[in-house]
Formats: sequence, structure tokens, C-alpha cells
Amino acid sequence: MQQIVLASRPDGAPGHDNFRLETSDMPTPGAGEILVKVAYMSLDPYMRGRMDDAKSYAAPVPLGGKMEGGSVGHVIASNADGFAEGDAVFGPFGWASHAVADARMCRKLNPDLAPITTALGVLGMPGFTGWYGLNEIGKPKAGETLLVAAATGPVGSMVGQLAKAKGLRAVGVAGGPDKCKLATETFGFDACVDHRAHDNVSGLRDALKEAAPDGIDVYFENVGGPVLEATLPQMNRFGRIPLCGMIAWYNAGGLGDGASSQGLTGPKLWRTLLVNHLTVTGFIIANHWDRYGEFLTEVAPMVADGRVKYEEDITEGLENAPQAFMDMLRGGNTGKTIVKVG
Ligand code: NDP
Repeated sequence: MQQIVLASRPDGAPGHDNFRLETSDMPTPGAGEILVKVAYMSLDPYMRGRMDDAKSYAAPVPLGGKMEGGSVGHVIASNADGFAEGDAVFGPFGWASHAVADARMCRKLNPDLAPITTALGVLGMPGFTGWYGLNEIGKPKAGETLLVAAATGPVGSMVGQLAKAKGLRAVGVAGGPDKCKLATETFGFDACVDHRAHDNVSGLRDALKEAAPDGIDVYFENVGGPVLEATLPQMNRFGRIPLCGMIAWYNAGGLGDGASSQGLTGPKLWRTLLVNHLTVTGFIIANHWDRYGEFLTEVAPMVADGRVKYEEDITEGLENAPQAFMDMLRGGNTGKTIVKVG
């Protein structure tokens, strides 16, 4: 079997030397465990945080340890009740061709209901994140305006489509004209601002004003950086900000230099929250899996009948995972980033 381990910790953006492909013996499942041949693995922004030796909501990947992540595959040996050879499963199998896992951490999939890759994106953790953050924290109301960046990714596209379905004006922010076209034409956003077309915050602010002339009631925060700085002054009173991610700063080492160089100083930020009566709530979706069934019940039928659309960006070969991961962090992906392993 093959796996990719963390060879060294990145200083800034990750590079190829931070990863190492290793070959080892096939593991054997113990009691309550299953052995899985991985078919597709997910690449997600949070994995950048696991590469740093910094205090966070989850422990870092140790040096020499397998890169973590969720994958889908098929059981090839089982010592666990309820799992049989050939079953399609989702689980924490990491960046690997095969893995042994505690069956309690795995979930069986029904390939007749949806392609198994959807368990990594639209019907998996990212889609669930969009659904939870929008509904529980964003508290969307018909007639309001919502803004979300990384609008064509699995989180942002879910947020935008659900907001539209609830009668909001949905404004996206995405990198480049092609992604903006995808946001409006496929995902149904009312408008999309290309953040890469503006090299200063004031240009971005003007573009957002045009796209959201009535101000912003819900800012679903995916990116931080200049988009956050341009957005905050345009928040309407009593606006809500589900604080989901800040990918613009993930390479800045715990938010240090990258954040302060954007000019978004603490006092300025603090004052904006006060004068606009804003509610900002951070959330980590891993703490809310008790709501996952509810999400599937509501959204799986919307995916099945095409009311919720999704895009997947599939790279072939485990050995190409580091490059696909680095590309995704820079916006090189279009839709959910997946590696076809098996
Ligand atoms: P995506 O698949 O959308 O990939 C990340 C995207 O971020 C890129 O494609 C790029 O899109 C955008 N991006 C990168 N750098 C910048 C930048 N400097 N400014 C603006 N946009 C940038 O990611 P996901 O949908 O999987 O995740 C979106 C966010 O949600 C991330 O911040 C992630 O960490 C967070 N998240 C949080 C969770 C939680 O539990 N709180 C759970 C899951 C995700 P573009 O080319 O359009 O700029």
C-alpha cells in the first residue's frame, strides 16, 4: 500500500518537499476494524492547519505521520459487525491507497442513491458545513442579502444555493471570470464579484456595493483577507456572520503577519461589530455531527432532483495529491477537490 506523510512543516505556502510518498506492508484489521481500498479522497483547506505545529481545535499531524483526511472506498476485509467485503464506505482513511479504521468511525454509503464522491463534497462535510452555518448562525430571511466567498467551492456553492432557495439575494465572490460565470449560471447566484480583478480593498468594496446595493445581512465568512475588509463596512445593522474559514490567512502562520498587513486592525474591526450590532459566531462542523442526518434528509433530495448542483474537480493518482492540494489553496480548483486513488 502507499501513503503520503508529512515530511516537514511548511513555512508559508506548502511545497512538494513537505510531503513524502511511502510504500509499506498492507495493514491487517483488528477486532472492530475494517480494511478499505480507497477509491477517492478529499482534499480540504483545513488540512493546511494540520501541517502546522500550532494550537488549534485539532492536533497537528506529527512529522512522518500520514496526512489526515476523509475518503470513500470499499471494504476488502472486515472484523466489524455490519460491514462486509465490497461495502462502499466513508471514513477517516487519510492520504493513502488502503487503510484500516475503527468501523465506528466509518459510514456505509448507498451508491444507488448518489455517486460515492458526493460523500466528500455536496453531501459530505463541506456541504453540511454550508447548511449548518447558514441556517444556525446566518438565520437567513427572505428578502435579505447574503455574501459568500469561495462561491464555487463545496461550502460556498451550498450556501449560495440554499440562500437562493430561501428567497435571499445571493452574492458570490470568486477568483476569475470563469468561476464568476459558474457561480451565476450554474449555482444561480444573483451576482458574483471577481476578487482577483481588484488589487486594492477600495476597488473590491465598490464592486461589492454594486453587487449588493442594499447592503449585506449575512456574510458567510470563508476567506478573511481583503474580502473581509471590503465587506465589513457594508454590513447592515443586526447582520450575522457565520465565521467558517479564513483561507486567505492559512499560510500566515496562526494569523500573524498576513492579517495585520491587510490593515484590518483589532480596534477597527471591533468598532464595526459594535456600531452595526453584528453577531459573529465561529463554528467547527466536527462538533455538530448530530445534525448530519437532518442535513441529508433535507438536502439529498435537492441534489437528486437537481435543485442543488455541484461541481467536482478530480485529479488522478495518489502521488498527485500534494500538487492538487497546493493548487486548491491558491484557487486552482473548480468545485470540490478530490483525488481518484483506486
Ligand atoms: P474551496 O474548495 O472553495 O477551496 C478554497 C477556495 O478558497 C479556493 O478555490 C479559492 O477560490 C478561495 N481562496 C483561496 N485563497 C483566497 C483568498 N486569498 N481570498 C479569497 N478566496 C480565496 O474550499 P471549501 O469550500 O472546502 O472551504 C471553504 C472555506 O470553508 C475554507 O476557509 C475552509 O477552511 C472552511 N471550512 C470550515 C469548516 C468549519 O468547520 N468551520 C468546515 C469546512 C470548510 P477562488 O478561486 O474563488 O478565490
